Amino acid sequence: MPKMLSKVLKSLITKPATVRYPYVKPEPVPGTRGKITFDMKKCDLCQDCERVCPSLAIKIFPDEKRIEYSPFRCLYCHLCVESCMQMAIIPDVVVGAPAFEKVMDIFKTERR
Ligand code: SF4
Ligand code: SF4
Repeated sequence: MPKMLSKVLKSLITKPATVRYPYVKPEPVPGTRGKITFDMKKCDLCQDCERVCPSLAIKIFPDEKRIEYSPFRCLYCHLCVESCMQMAIIPDVVVGAPAFEKVMDIFKTERR
């Protein structure tokens, strides 16, 4: 009992071993693969990223000049980032947060 009491008292005055997630968000480790966004000023709608995506998270509609990206299907593998010759896919280190609805991210371009 005294041994346990000393451990309890020690834990009260020392720093916690874990962070208070989700109230305190931990800093992402540099190099973490997270969500992607599209720079539609650079994108030429070539569909290379759509072809390499293993989870079918990207859909390109060249006629409508539109890209649909589903963060809920995305595996964060960043194969699309590596495949884009135009460097139009911007990788982030933050992964998507859980949500009640599976909302698609829509990107449009005015490029011809
Ligand atoms: S993001 Fe890159 S790979 Fe994807 S359609 Fe645009 S230019 Fe092609
Ligand atoms: S990171 Fe991987 S899974 Fe996500 S859209 Fe790109 S290729 Fe697809």
